[in-house]
Amino acid sequence: MNDTVASQELLAAADQHLVDGVLARQPRALAKAITLVESTRRDHQARAEQVLAALLPHTGKAIRVGISGSPGAGKSTFIEALGLHLIERGHRLAVLAVDPSSTLSGGSILGDKTRMEKLSTDANAFIRPSPSGGSLGGVAEKTREAMLVCEAAGFDVIIVETVGVGQSETTVAGMVDAFVLLQLPNAGDDLQAIKKGIVELADLVVINKADIDPKAAEFARHHFEGALALLRSASPGWRPPVLTVSAQTGRGIEAFWGEIERYRKAMSESGGLEAKRKRQAVDWMWTLIDGELRNRFRHHPQVKHDLEQVSRAVTAGSMTPAAAAHRLLGYLQDKD
Ligand code: GDP
Repeated sequence: MNDTVASQELLAAADQHLVDGVLARQPRALAKAITLVESTRRDHQARAEQVLAALLPHTGKAIRVGISGSPGAGKSTFIEALGLHLIERGHRLAVLAVDPSSTLSGGSILGDKTRMEKLSTDANAFIRPSPSGGSLGGVAEKTREAMLVCEAAGFDVIIVETVGVGQSETTVAGMVDAFVLLQLPNAGDDLQAIKKGIVELADLVVINKADIDPKAAEFARHHFEGALALLRSASPGWRPPVLTVSAQTGRGIEAFWGEIERYRKAMSESGGLEAKRKRQAVDWMWTLIDGELRNRFRHHPQVKHDLEQVSRAVTAGSMTPAAAAHRLLGYLQDKD
C-alpha cells in the first residue's frame, strides 16, 4: 500500500479535487474522471494512473454484471427495465459498454440517445457509451478503469454491456463477477452462441422476448439447460440457471435479480468470488504488460527499420520465422 500513499502524495491539486469530487459523488467530477481515464494522451494517462491509485481503496464493493447478446436481443430494453427496478429498490447503477466496432461505425451501442430513455435521466443511474479506443484491448482497458471510477463514486451495481462481436464477450467475462448471456428464443441465435463457445462463459442465460411465443421460449430454456449440463461451469460450484423473461413487460426481471443475488451469496460464501477477482486482476496485469511490450516493440527504431526486410525474408523462405522473431526481439534488449 506504500505505493498508493506515494501516488497520493504526488497528486496535483487539480487531480486531488477531482478525486474528492468523485468520492463526493458529484456527476461532473465523475464524467471528468472518466474522460481523463479514456484519454489516449500520454500526459493524461499518467494523471489517470494517479487518480485511479487514489480511488482504488474505495472500489470493489459493487456487484459487476456483464450482459451480452446479439444486436436486437433486447439488451437495452432489458437493462432499462432492470435498472429502473434496481433504483426503486435503492440501488445506484452504472452502465458501461464495450463495443470495439464503435470506432469503425462511428457510433456506439450506447450512443443512441433513444436507448434507455428513462434510465438515462435518472439521477441514480450513470450511462456511458463505449470509449473509442480502437482495439478491443484499448476499449476494454478503459471500460475496466471507468468501472473502478464508478465504484468509487458509490455505484453499487455495475453493468457492462457488450455485443456479440469477436472476442468482446471473453474480455467482458474477464472483468465482471457474473456474466449473463441474453438470447432470443430461436434456434439460430442459440446455435451461434453454442458454436462460438460463449455459453461456456455464462453464469446465467436469459431467454428474452418470452411474451412473443412463451412455448418457444420454454423450448429454448430446455435446450440451453441441456447444453449447459454438458459444459464445465464458468464459475466452479455454480450451475448456471436459464431463465425466460420479457424485458418489455418486465416479467421475470425480479426473478433475474434474485438469481444474481443468489449467485453473489453462493460465490461469496465459497470464496469463489474473491478468487475470481484476484485471478482477473492478475490476468489484467498480464494483458497490460503484453500490450505495452507489443507497443514498445512496434515503436522500437531498429524494429521499425528492419521489420519489412525481415518479413520479406520470411515470406521468401530465406529466413525461418523463429530466426526472424529472435532477431527482432533481440533489439528490445538493447538500450532504447
Ligand atoms: P439490443 O440491440 O440488444 O439492445 O436490443 P433492443 O433493446 O434495442 O431491442 C430490440 C427490439 O426488440 C426493440 O424493438 C425492442 O422494443 C424489442 N424488445 C426488447 N425486449 C423485448 C421483449 O421482451 N418483448 C418484445 N416483444 N420485444 C422486445
